Amino acid sequence: MTVAASPPAASTGGEALEPALIRESGQREVFCGLTSIVWLHRRMPDAFFLVVGSRTCAHLIQSAAGVMIFAEPRFGTAILGERDLAGLADANEELDRLVAQLLERRPEIRSLFLVGSCPSEVIKLDLAKAAERLNRQHRGRVTVLNYSGSGIETTFTQGEDGALQAMIPLMPSGEQSQLLIAGTLADAVEDRLMGLFHRLGIERVVSLPPRRSSELPAVGPGTKLLLAQPFLSGTARALVDRGAELIRAPYPLGVEGSRAWMAAAAAAFGVAPAQVAQVLDPLVERGQRALAPHRDVLSGKRLFLLPDSQLEIPLARFLSRECGMELVEVGVPYLDRQLMAEELALLPAGTQLSEGQHLDHQLARVREARPDLVLCGLGLANPLEAEGMATKWSIELVFSPIHGIDQAGDLAELFARPLRRRAVLSFA
Ligand code: SF4
Repeated sequence: MTVAASPPAASTGGEALEPALIRESGQREVFCGLTSIVWLHRRMPDAFFLVVGSRTCAHLIQSAAGVMIFAEPRFGTAILGERDLAGLADANEELDRLVAQLLERRPEIRSLFLVGSCPSEVIKLDLAKAAERLNRQHRGRVTVLNYSGSGIETTFTQGEDGALQAMIPLMPSGEQSQLLIAGTLADAVEDRLMGLFHRLGIERVVSLPPRRSSELPAVGPGTKLLLAQPFLSGTARALVDRGAELIRAPYPLGVEGSRAWMAAAAAAFGVAPAQVAQVLDPLVERGQRALAPHRDVLSGKRLFLLPDSQLEIPLARFLSRECGMELVEVGVPYLDRQLMAEELALLPAGTQLSEGQHLDHQLARVREARPDLVLCGLGLANPLEAEGMATKWSIELVFSPIHGIDQAGDLAELFARPLRRRAVLSFA
């Protein structure tokens, strides 16, 4: 579920960089990309995610989402030569058999994602070939795609990046003018944002992933791409390769970020700033009012963000600029400077960033700094709480509707809550 990577090697590589950057590699404490199945399968009810994995993967996914697992203990780990090849042939046959059974039982499935994982027996299986073969066998009935959710290659939000990339080759080509929003949003939040884009005068707005996996939007030179999530580096590149033009903007977290995100899209479609102000300013005012009580709790508090979801930089920007928090360190699993350029420019000067993770070193910095609040993965929350630090689980932010001006108050509340609870406990 969590992954231990290679040994120490912290280096400070950021003397010339602004903000300051520490690059680290070592033991990591993050969920793997399989976790993203939890929100992807809710988003696309006509898709099925078949994890080709081990019992560990099965436990992770079954407890988190209740999706079906292909996880037979028959895979050997030390079988060599001829027997190894024979074992692989068996595994492919077994996979074909399971898929046929599944499709028979579940006529509503239109897309089947084969999701790879870490165990060496799975890595040996060529899931791209398996997907090709299954597509031939079930042509017209279902589309079979594949991507990796392996913890060796992905952190938990990168699973979504992999799934979306797998869908892009299937998107039809089209030249019509449209706004394409990439990244899963809660349906209600997406409806609200779509309504606002329409009021701004952007007529055609489509999304990836779509709500039905079989209804993929077209992409081409008329497509302007707006990322709703900051962890879609591969998806953004692949869509740009298909002709889409990337709109550069901060991410839609907080009042300021959400307004700038919508305004950037409006500018790309030639909407006048006055029209943007007319539609968005009442929302901005309401959003700021909703933030106020949480700002009272958060202002002046010191925040340490450990790398986990890839949402850390936009969150840090929101919490420092709109909620008055002081940033001790902002950790990210990886730093995509292109997709983060607008966010980095909004961080306070000299913010300490870290990329990658060496768990022991990072925890030592947390203990030394004694921040008021630590944003971290589930596995670290209890030990840090036991040491007297308030924590917030990163994963909760991925499952909560936090995008958009209207959600800014709720987003701030998620961070204020552990501090309020701690204050009540210490008073008691
Ligand atoms: Fe664990 Fe790897 Fe399976 Fe994820 S893919 S649950 S990290 S074994």
